[in-house]
Amino acid sequence: MAMLGLKIDVDTYWGMKNGVPCLLEILKQFRLKGTFFLSIGPDNSGRAALQLIKNPLFLKKMMRTNAAALYGWKTALYGTLLPAPMIAFSFPQIVNDIIAAGHEVQFHAWDHRRWQDELLQKSEDWIREWFSKGIAGFEKLTEKKPTAFGAPSWVIDDRVLKIIKAYNCDYLSCTRAKSPFIHEIADVLEIPSDLPCFEEIDAEKGVSIITDLIKDGQTHVLPVHAEVEGGIFQNQFRELLKDAINMGIKVVPLKEIKQKLDIKSLHKRKYKMELLPGRHSPCAV
Ligand SMILES: [Zn+2]
Repeated sequence: MAMLGLKIDVDTYWGMKNGVPCLLEILKQFRLKGTFFLSIGPDNSGRAALQLIKNPLFLKKMMRTNAAALYGWKTALYGTLLPAPMIAFSFPQIVNDIIAAGHEVQFHAWDHRRWQDELLQKSEDWIREWFSKGIAGFEKLTEKKPTAFGAPSWVIDDRVLKIIKAYNCDYLSCTRAKSPFIHEIADVLEIPSDLPCFEEIDAEKGVSIITDLIKDGQTHVLPVHAEVEGGIFQNQFRELLKDAINMGIKVVPLKEIKQKLDIKSLHKRKYKMELLPGRHSPCAV
């Protein structure tokens, strides 16, 4: 049976506070479950302003997606003019609500923004500390260890895979590859997001572009962002879920995709970094 995995990333304070409750309501209406990947620590979104100066593609993306409407002006100042608020740590009740509704919850980030912009310049000690703070926070909020990790913005390097190996994850969801594989170095299953995100494609045609991609009867994973599908694109997200259900596609959390995979038949390989259409920096694939 064709399956559509929902990989729902929570990247910001705004997304945790407003986007997650909105998505919980939508998923409840459709009686669907997804996997929420939580950012635990500080929301340094405002530091993205530095990227405007350094990376012209980022400015183009911000203008195309109307970033102010997407994230709000306050978000644009967190970590610069305003102090960085904690993301999941600020909303333990919302974390409980996600779990109580029966969704899968996994680990996405300690400090999402710094990882996304600075990982490659950071030391191995910085990465270790990032994981230990983030995973300790995750355990405090959920009373269990995460069994999967989804890297912020699909940025990883060899050091990350070496460090994550020690956490014995059931799977990673760190790439935009076209199909699942086994990571070299970490020796762990990768369940990639093979579909584009709404903010990478023409918003007007977003739903039809994605329904075209999922009608082939195969298993796919949709990258969802609490800030986006739980915000200005909520109607498109509803429409897409309705289309998927009408096509007979089973909408599932990622752990259900893992259960159906024939893991022994998958290739072991190294990820590559690639600049995908509609993105401003390279992703692992
Ligand atoms: Zn993210």
